[in-house]
Order: sequence, then structure tokens, then C-alpha cells
Amino acid sequence: MQYQFDNGSRVPVAVVHCLDWRFVQQTWKFITKELGVLFFTPYSFPGGPKVFLDLETRNVFLRVLETVSIGHHGIQQVILIGHRDCKAYGGSARFGSPEEERETHERDLRIARDVITRKFPGVMVDLFYMEIVSMAGGEGKVEPQQVK
Ligand SMILES: [Zn+2]
Repeated sequence: MQYQFDNGSRVPVAVVHCLDWRFVQQTWKFITKELGVLFFTPYSFPGGPKVFLDLETRNVFLRVLETVSIGHHGIQQVILIGHRDCKAYGGSARFGSPEEERETHERDLRIARDVITRKFPGVMVDLFYMEIVSMAGGEGKVEPQQVK
């Protein structure tokens, strides 16, 4: 079987999301279908944007963004996506309430945005939180919600 292949090097958007398999397909569908971003560089780490919170991983990833995404791909936008029940945060059980969990993720997403915009003022940063909106048995629904 052969697959379509685009040999261009310009990719206008970088997406940083968690590698949690429960959210990956929904995240990619959201980006391509809802946001209409067909070409993007996916950076997938445990905790996704949490990579910007730790000084060591922050500096490594900022260098990657600078050399690869900005220097080579010419990105203009970074999309940061956190999610509920992220095991990199210890899961939902670590928090005292759903609100506390949500506020922690929103705070960290804003910190990550500040780190990026301080270093790369010309790059637009959008934040989203994948919320689990229903759970029945082993199946549920998630909804990406914008964080301001
Ligand atoms: Zn996660």
C-alpha cells in the first residue's frame, strides 16, 4: 500500500499534546476537523504542555521549537492541549475536586503560553483543555474547551 506524501518543509502550526492514547485520536480530529488545521507538527509528551513547567525539559524543548518549528518549518502558531485525568499529574485522583484539577491545568497552560511568547513574541499560542464531559461504563465523551 502507498500513502500520500507532501515533500514541503513549511508547517505553520505546532501542536503540543499528551501522549495518553485515550485522547490522541480525539485531539487530532479536533485539530484537523474543528480547527481546520490540516498540516501541523505534533509534539507528544507525557503531560503535553507540562514539558514547559520543568526547567530542564523546558529549555530542551524551546531549543527544538526554535531550530525545528520556527527555523525550519516557519510556524506562526502553537496549540497547547492539556486534558483531564492526565497521569503525568497523577490523574484526577490526585486533586481534591474537579475544579482544582481544571484550575491546575489552566494555570499550567497559561504558564506554558507565557514561556513561549516571552521567547518567541511573534508566535501565537492557543490553549485547550480536553474535558471528559460524560462517562458511562468504560466509554465516555471528551470535548476540547478553549482556555483564555
Ligand atoms: Zn496526559
